[in-house]
Amino acid sequence: MSTAPIFRRVALIGFGLIGGSIARAARAEGLASEIVTTARSEKTRARVAELGIVDRVLESNAEAVQDADLVILCIPVGACGPVAQEIAPFLKAGAIVSDVGSVKGAIVREMAPHLPQGVHFVPAHPVAGTEHSGPDSGFAELFINRWCILTPPDGTDPAAVEALRAFWAALGARVEIMTPDHHDLVLAITSHLPHLIAYTIVGTADELAQVTSSEVIKFSAGGFRDFTRIAASDPTMWRDVFLNNKEAVLEMLGTFNEDLSKLTRAIRRNDGEALFEHFTRTRAIRRGIVEIGQDSAAPDFGRPHPPLKKAE
Ligand code: NAP
Repeated sequence: MSTAPIFRRVALIGFGLIGGSIARAARAEGLASEIVTTARSEKTRARVAELGIVDRVLESNAEAVQDADLVILCIPVGACGPVAQEIAPFLKAGAIVSDVGSVKGAIVREMAPHLPQGVHFVPAHPVAGTEHSGPDSGFAELFINRWCILTPPDGTDPAAVEALRAFWAALGARVEIMTPDHHDLVLAITSHLPHLIAYTIVGTADELAQVTSSEVIKFSAGGFRDFTRIAASDPTMWRDVFLNNKEAVLEMLGTFNEDLSKLTRAIRRNDGEALFEHFTRTRAIRRGIVEIGQDSAAPDFGRPHPPLKKAE
């Protein structure tokens, strides 16, 4: 335990990749005197109890939030509105209510109307994740050096924003504050569109008639493999992201389609100069991401390779 508790009781609604990672990191850093969690299914609750990371596992969201100083909804975006309505009457005055949803405008629209006066609403989005889900998928280091974006509505108590900022910083994250709409536009291009493209390309490959699916899998290291990791992400989560960030995704998709048409034309017209110029520009973006420590500089993403066998 390396830090003094920031909150007395933290209630996590949902215990999957994100809820489970928050619980593990908060426990390791001693950020809460007590961590209470709920999960929708009996199966997940039983597994969370078995893992022994939190102090109490409850079936009732209402019971979990009672007397909690910080409540974080770690469930799919589409479920946040109904759960906010369910817990509202049981929230303690002065409690901070937050979430981890990958979309922010819809979260504010769906949750805020239910929350009572005297409760501080500070939505959050940790920009960190993997393609895995469920109670066993989380790990304490998930948020280290990743960004967590807070989108407090105008007029939110600065002390509540600061307390949540300190919590995420103690989990290892770098914290930035922006409006929900700006968040949704930025994430539409950096996260939502890449996922849509990955889902599309993997689906297209799966439906090809001229190339067998065993060939697609066999020769996947040609680039396809890296899309398959993203396209293995949780279907419920991503359905909710696209349904709840429709406008921003459609706007980015329009721009993307125009750019794809330009590259298609360059290929058709044998315009090597246009292709070379475009690929040079995109390569520099990759370098920038590595330089600010948001990805590994190791060749092949640091994947282990078996040693080359010496010829007999
Ligand atoms: P996850 O591993 O699938 O866990 C989801 C949790 O929510 C589980 O405890 C599940 O309970 C519960 N749940 C599912 N549907 C529910 C419903 N209708 N009502 C109440 N509880 C429900 O998901 P996750 O990856 O942690 O994602 C949770 C949130 O984090 C999402 O809003 C997502 O947008 C956001 N997020 C995800 C990532 C990522 O990379 N995965 C990154 C940043 C933010 P059961 O296990 O009992 O079904």
